[in-house]
Amino acid sequence: MTQLSPTLELALDLISRPSVTPEDAGCQDLMIERLEKIGFSVERMPFGDVKNFYAKRGSEGPNLCFAGHTDVVPTGPESEWKVSPFKPEIIDGMLYGRGAADMKGSLAAMVTAVENFVAEHPDHNGQISFLITSDEEGPFVDGTTRVVDALMAREEKVDWCIVGEPSSTKTLGDIIKNGRRGSFSGDLTVYGKQGHVAYPHLAKNPIHLAAPALAEFASTKWDDGNDFFPPTSFQVSNIQAGTGATNVVPGKLNAQFNFRFSSELTFDDLKERVIDILEKHELEYDIDWTYNGLPFLTKPGELVDAIVDAVQKTVDITPELSTSGGTSDGRFIAKMGTQVVELGPINATIHQINECVDAESLNQLSLIYQRILTNLMAK
Ligand SMILES: [Zn+2]
Repeated sequence: MTQLSPTLELALDLISRPSVTPEDAGCQDLMIERLEKIGFSVERMPFGDVKNFYAKRGSEGPNLCFAGHTDVVPTGPESEWKVSPFKPEIIDGMLYGRGAADMKGSLAAMVTAVENFVAEHPDHNGQISFLITSDEEGPFVDGTTRVVDALMAREEKVDWCIVGEPSSTKTLGDIIKNGRRGSFSGDLTVYGKQGHVAYPHLAKNPIHLAAPALAEFASTKWDDGNDFFPPTSFQVSNIQAGTGATNVVPGKLNAQFNFRFSSELTFDDLKERVIDILEKHELEYDIDWTYNGLPFLTKPGELVDAIVDAVQKTVDITPELSTSGGTSDGRFIAKMGTQVVELGPINATIHQINECVDAESLNQLSLIYQRILTNLMAK
């Protein structure tokens, strides 16, 4: 049996702990033990049944934070897995187990990267920190967002943050995420007056009233996007009206829609423009908003440069910057004015049966994280 690297040892240990959201199953204890050993002071920050911690080494200067989550999504039918999902195994160079790619492999790589860096540079510049939650895959109410609120309340500064989400698509480091679009939904009810189709003067048809407004939403150019984001997009996802009878004008119409928006606009800008259109069409309506997250964008600068250089030196490719995909905890951290970038292993199997990651890529990921530390924090 060949000797496993410290990164793979730790990844196996983390994956063996069945931490389905919001469970942590001892993953954070394991990370904390390792970090305390190399001089981190650790603050446990539980909220509700969610475990979180913030750990820091150093007391002044720029703060580089590693962020991530110990929770995983459910396994699905275990019998369909080629290994038991919480008994990880390396088969033909691939590490199988729930969380291997999303994101216990990254957590292991972060810990060993920092251990190696601190051994080489015990008196490094600035501060190194960890912000770890057990609620990223769930309702994300008591996780990163609460920790960020607490850090902001005491004016803790985080200058740079690397989130270990699996950003790579074909080979390690081919894509890094330097932002994400914002998202929010609206639930619109337009009121009319129910009546007989043969006596329209006695009724008020909400479908006829709403249609021109919805058409205007669909054809509006909300913005042009920018160098990093595609133009803001609007989509109606559901629309209902009608009683089922062909001779009745319905009394109301319900429509649901979603915006994915760029950093050119805010939630308030868009809300105002939606309301302006509804008012212009003189509709009688109610609207409920569900706000899913702000867009964030980290423009090329110190952090992006340090990451690109580390990836080039380790795996000899130049990563592409991307803001595609859904939302992540990066959106909460960015609220602190932090430069946030996501960099992790290949995401091809995340949340699936037989989640797996190339075992050697985790060793390389640890080296990349270590080189980023060297680029930003070495004396
Ligand atoms: Zn994740």
